[in-house]
Amino acid sequence: MSNGGERPVAVIGAGIAGLAAAWELRRRGVENLRVFEAAPRPGGVIQSEARNGFRFEGGPDSFLTAKTSATELCRAVGLGDALVACAAAQPRSWILHRQRLEPLPEGWQFLAAARAGPVLRTRLLSWPAKLHLAREFAAPAAVTTGDASVADSVRARFGAEVLDTLVTPLLAGVYGGDPEALSFAATLPRFAELAAKGSIGRALWRQARRSRNGSQTPQPLFVTLQDGMESLPRALAAALGAERLRCGAAVTAVRPLPGGGYELRLSDGVQAAAAAVIFAAPARVGVALLRELDGELAAALGAIPYASAATVHLAYSSAPALPSGFGFLAPRREGRRLLAATFVHQKFPHRAPPGGALLRFFYGGALDPEAVALDDSELAMLASEEARGILGVGAAPDWVHIHRWPQAMPQYTVGHAERLARIAARQARHPGLALAGAAYRGIGVPDAIASGQAAAQLVTGAP
Ligand SMILES: Cc1cc2nc3c(=O)[nH]c(=O)nc-3n(C[C@H](O)[C@H](O)[C@H](O)COP(=O)(O)OP(=O)(O)OC[C@H]3O[C@@H](n4cnc5c(N)ncnc54)[C@H](O)[C@@H]3O)c2cc1C
Repeated sequence: MSNGGERPVAVIGAGIAGLAAAWELRRRGVENLRVFEAAPRPGGVIQSEARNGFRFEGGPDSFLTAKTSATELCRAVGLGDALVACAAAQPRSWILHRQRLEPLPEGWQFLAAARAGPVLRTRLLSWPAKLHLAREFAAPAAVTTGDASVADSVRARFGAEVLDTLVTPLLAGVYGGDPEALSFAATLPRFAELAAKGSIGRALWRQARRSRNGSQTPQPLFVTLQDGMESLPRALAAALGAERLRCGAAVTAVRPLPGGGYELRLSDGVQAAAAAVIFAAPARVGVALLRELDGELAAALGAIPYASAATVHLAYSSAPALPSGFGFLAPRREGRRLLAATFVHQKFPHRAPPGGALLRFFYGGALDPEAVALDDSELAMLASEEARGILGVGAAPDWVHIHRWPQAMPQYTVGHAERLARIAARQARHPGLALAGAAYRGIGVPDAIASGQAAAQLVTGAP
């Protein structure tokens, strides 16, 4: 990259992807950089608050350890000792089934079972559905070809009952997504890779057997940060320093400069030149922001749809009786608006004061876009009613805390790979332009971090 010493690298957006990109740029020796963030604070959808001894996570509440980029970045910024593992629990999660909570079979991994016994015993699935799972294990049926939806792929392999009872609620709880619309290969790439080689069930079973026989200490599935997820963006922002991070500075346009480099226009009318640009704002923002630079790129970014969501925390100073584990998922056919519930104080005990309880209910997603439009009292009442109806929690919560996330969850719908290819082809025409964020190759915090790191690598041009 020719940074020329005078023009900085510009990063647009200080969500976790943009902040990870900035950290990585400095790790690679690029000190001349500016991060522009539209909001008054960095972190994007990562928002933590503490009140009355409770810790509320409005956005992500933890991250998977299997993808190591997030835990490694936490350690690198000095938050290694603040990493907190989720509690050990079995059953870990429940599924609402015929208005009762049934345990998610131990070893169930999104769409197939890594262990046979719990699936044979579960009341969630009928015997024909169990037989279907067994058939996939023994001899996977001819499966869908091309870029099939999650629903078509799961129906073809495991049957409609597995889709409706287990996969749809899991997908809604994690991606806020509609299985009929989401691409199997783009949304669940690990399973798509296994599917390409044969039976998914058999591959999961083998992996589980290997890790049971292995000598490695098992990793916790999820970790969070002691003082809240927001500690990570705060630490990254502090390391950047006020001279490199400008909050409340929305970029409104990017255009090429004659002879190379870019000019950024900001909402306050200021113009800033940059040697290279990492676009780490949501893809949908790129429609207006990158139009002048490349109309086709802007249009391709706009073709990535987003879903909205709302999280409702119900805090109780005196804990009601609850099932064990981390929470439950609610399939749509149960007639509830709730998508998923987390028993926060049972997943991460430090997030509630002693004797207290914290429930987090998740609403909205692609299948219920109107939920975010409900006002606070409607959402609070809905959550309290569902807590009573499903969990038998009659007591009113002492505090209710609501976060809305309009158009915040990118959806990797059928055609996503083709859209990414189009975006990559257009992006390649603009030397020094890189894209980062959850809209492209993984929606979790570790994926967003990895995308920021990859963008920094791209603009520095070094491996
Ligand atoms: C409710 C919810 C729960 C989630 N739960 C989990 C979880 O438990 N675990 C997990 O791993 N992942 C979870 N995720 C996903 C994960 O948190 C996100 O995918 C990830 O944090 C997105 O990071 P990002 O930097 O790509 O985007 P964002 O966080 O959206 O950041 C983009 C930034 O760009 C800024 N911006 C926008 N426009 C402009 C502009 N014009 N100029 C400058 N800046 C601009 C925005 O203000 C924002 O700060 C959850 C997401 C949501 C919404």
